[in-house]
Amino acid sequence: MASVSKSDDLFERAVLGVVSRVSGRTVAGLTLLLYPGVGLILPLALHWSVTALVAANVLGAVYAAVVSMGWLFIQVVARDRRHLIEWTTNLRLLSAEEFEWLVGELFRREGWKVEETGRQESPDGNIDLDLVRAGERKVVQCKRWGSWLVGVDEVRGFAGTLLREGLPGSAGIFVTLSDFTKPARSEARATGIALVDNRDLNDRIEKARRAEPCPVCQAAMVFDRSARGWWLRCIAPGCSGKRDLSGDPGRAVEFLTRPR
Ligand SMILES: [Zn+2]
Repeated sequence: MASVSKSDDLFERAVLGVVSRVSGRTVAGLTLLLYPGVGLILPLALHWSVTALVAANVLGAVYAAVVSMGWLFIQVVARDRRHLIEWTTNLRLLSAEEFEWLVGELFRREGWKVEETGRQESPDGNIDLDLVRAGERKVVQCKRWGSWLVGVDEVRGFAGTLLREGLPGSAGIFVTLSDFTKPARSEARATGIALVDNRDLNDRIEKARRAEPCPVCQAAMVFDRSARGWWLRCIAPGCSGKRDLSGDPGRAVEFLTRPR
């Protein structure tokens, strides 16, 4: 039983691994190949018995369904990840994985093509994100530590990882929710690794957070409070565009709360 569920799990991970890297069109092609191809045309062409044909048909349908469901699942997860920047007001509530998504989305909005590598098992210094922009490659390590300071050993481990990847120290970015010790900072200066601490991270998130556009002219709106409650008001001269937030307290709270 255990081995069956393990192989199921392996199969699922293999499917998710494949469909997370391909386009919707490829998934459609794969689905067609699996169902009418493996499930129908191939057995007919090979003159299989009716029993074998039925079995192949069922298997083809199941695998086609698994592939398309897997792809859908990944689209939904990706959409939710994109919203983490708008939704998150307290970064400490995020799990380590969500923290990586958030940092990944931040770099995506700063114009990088981001790949979440999920290389968790390497003994020293993981690479969590792989970034490419205009032919330049950078790698990111994320440490969702809340209170422990990131020390010199972590920075050295990351420097070693960069070396093995054949990358200069300046290609490394170390991101933490916490802060870095003094020796860690001087090690980073010596190796060229860029450090992003809690404060830098929050500043960058504030900048990357999408401002609410004015419903009339699409200009940026500012957050304001009148006697009747919270509003977003357009700053364009002569425009009276606004949005009432009093019926949406969660949104108002998000504008009010600065992540710390
Ligand atoms: Zn306006």
